[in-house]
Amino acid sequence: MWCGVITLFGQMFHAIKDHGITGRAIKNGLLTLETWDPRDYTTDKYATVDDRPYGGGPGMVMLAQPLREALAQAKFASPGLARVVYVTPGGERFDHAKARKLAQSAQPLIFVAGRYEGIDYRVIEQDIDEQLSIGDYVLSGGELAVMVMIDAITRWIPGALGHELSAVNDTFSEEMAGLLDCPHYTRPACIGTQKVPEVLLTGDHQAIARWRKKQSLGQTWLHRSDILEKLTLDETSQALLAEFQLEYEKN
Ligand code: SAM
Repeated sequence: MWCGVITLFGQMFHAIKDHGITGRAIKNGLLTLETWDPRDYTTDKYATVDDRPYGGGPGMVMLAQPLREALAQAKFASPGLARVVYVTPGGERFDHAKARKLAQSAQPLIFVAGRYEGIDYRVIEQDIDEQLSIGDYVLSGGELAVMVMIDAITRWIPGALGHELSAVNDTFSEEMAGLLDCPHYTRPACIGTQKVPEVLLTGDHQAIARWRKKQSLGQTWLHRSDILEKLTLDETSQALLAEFQLEYEKN
């Protein structure tokens, strides 16, 4: 998977280049991550990348020309026709399904990270294929949003995770019917009065799978009833959820 980023703060990307799953994916040649700084494509002696908005008002707007030249360089370096994504709070919500789809398509991606009040709208009109948001809040810049997206996409690149099944067992995945993940425990089995649920110690895989499904349904009911409302549960799931609710009310 090839990802390019147009950013004034390329150094920030060391956070994902040098660490964790994304860092390992880069080392293993599964992910390429390069940055281009619009400041390198300015023509004045102050290396100006922004200017005041037409019509007045607070803040500055990123200039089209350095952005376009940085984009041209990124496109030139891309191993194939790249999809250009502007990250913006007004974009379509980036979610689990989107991350998976972008990873599966394997099309090179060029992200544009805005700063200040954003970028000159003519760049959005002419050079951007898609606008994506990581949530309904405003960040100071697009870099963190781009890193969030690249991290989530990388989890779906075959071979990027240590255990091939980890991503399909995660919260929201289709294989989990869109439910939240179940609780996880590790050693020791007992921390003071807190015990690991006994079923997890039995080695009975069927009983463990049943418990996990029940917990997933229960966690979704407790924390994300909006997801549950959109699902049609089969009889087994309904019974498991009822069991969870009964146990929850007792405790
Ligand atoms: N004036 C813009 C608005 O109200 O929509 C906000 C600009 S914000 C201060 C600067 C940059 O951060 C944006 O151009 C965008 O690239 C990025 N950004 C901010 N919030 C974001 C979000 N929720 N998702 C993705 N990118 C975001």
